Amino acid sequence: MNTSRKYGFTTANVHADHQKPIEHASILRPIHNSVTFGYADSRQLAEVFQGKQPGYRYARQGNPSISALEDKITQMEDGIATVCFASGMAAIGAVPLTLLRAGDHVVSSAFLFGNTSSIWQTIAHHGITVDQVDATDVNNVEAALKPSTRMVYVETVGNPRTQVADLKRIGELCAARGLLFVVDNTMTSPYLFRPKAVCASLSINSLTKSINGHGNAMGGAITDTGMFDWSQYPNIFDGIKKQPQAQWGAAQIRVRGLRDFGACLAPETAHRISTGAETLALRMDRTCANALAVAQMLEADNRVKSVYYPGLASHPQHRLASELFRAYGSMFSFELQDGIDCFDYLNRLKLAIPASNLGDTRTLAIPVAHTIYAEAGPEARAKMGIADSLIRVSMGIEDTADLLDDFGQALSA
Ligand code: PLP
Repeated sequence: MNTSRKYGFTTANVHADHQKPIEHASILRPIHNSVTFGYADSRQLAEVFQGKQPGYRYARQGNPSISALEDKITQMEDGIATVCFASGMAAIGAVPLTLLRAGDHVVSSAFLFGNTSSIWQTIAHHGITVDQVDATDVNNVEAALKPSTRMVYVETVGNPRTQVADLKRIGELCAARGLLFVVDNTMTSPYLFRPKAVCASLSINSLTKSINGHGNAMGGAITDTGMFDWSQYPNIFDGIKKQPQAQWGAAQIRVRGLRDFGACLAPETAHRISTGAETLALRMDRTCANALAVAQMLEADNRVKSVYYPGLASHPQHRLASELFRAYGSMFSFELQDGIDCFDYLNRLKLAIPASNLGDTRTLAIPVAHTIYAEAGPEARAKMGIADSLIRVSMGIEDTADLLDDFGQALSA
């Protein structure tokens, strides 16, 4: 591979592993299961521990198989460094844990995956305050800023109601104010969107979703896009400042988040996610096309009350999504007309599986209010626009005609 040339997304992705030398002429970087790393010269071990020379020490904070995946994600995001975790939530939790301190304030989108909102409640007990606002308009974010605000946090496309954050203008606001801008890119993935393009500081991906894509591995990643000036950030520990400035953010996340709290990815899992990631673009092209076709079909049917999908011209942020994303994603949600029971509808589906998770090869559908948002309660659900009959769909790679038939026949019964 000619490294001076800019290759397309998939070309670069499938050739990522062998850009570094691999033993036995392997073209994939192998699974290394060793927990620890031994050196013939104990001085070398000391130097590796002190960061004076590169090398692995103990697998909780890094291992060659995990580095292979981290390199691949860094390349997909066009970033400068990635730290992988055992799940998307472990990655998200590491952000406030390692980069914020008591007294700091966060402005967050109100349209978030429920478990992330739950983290905001937890950190409130540790002296970090969070205001959640409608981030589809930068003015709401700006109005919530305080002198103590350190970070703005959004999802590209809100799970499950698909609100699209005002990403470009929030990025400009954060850049002008020197604020850390953290974007959960899970719903779009680096194939549809690179948060770096809107000046985000960190991009988070749940690898469990479309990046792995087969519903058989959990993981999470934080990528430093290289856009943030860490030298101005007050919460960097002195020990981290021995490293090059550009690496301070990722180093603090790795040391204080991964090493200390220990939610490390297993090497076999990293390898499985790396293999899944090779077909990300192919799967996303198909799942996005399927989502658009089924969302359009449902919207045209008078037994359906509303369909929420950024690919529909009726979506309030359709224009924004068209400007920012390569396609509109695999997830949409919809409400049936009153009198059609969402459980009965789901039970009539023959292909779509009533199950949680997103970004699988198989189509999954879930009654949101009764499952993943049951704990939130009616008040919080109402604030997020989650009706009792809302069904969230994660489109798979099945043939479009079969999915149209399936979602259509379930309406007819
Ligand atoms: N971020 C988003 C937008 C999600 O939808 C999810 C899970 O659904 C997560 C993060 C958490 O990822 P994981 O399940 O890998 O912990």
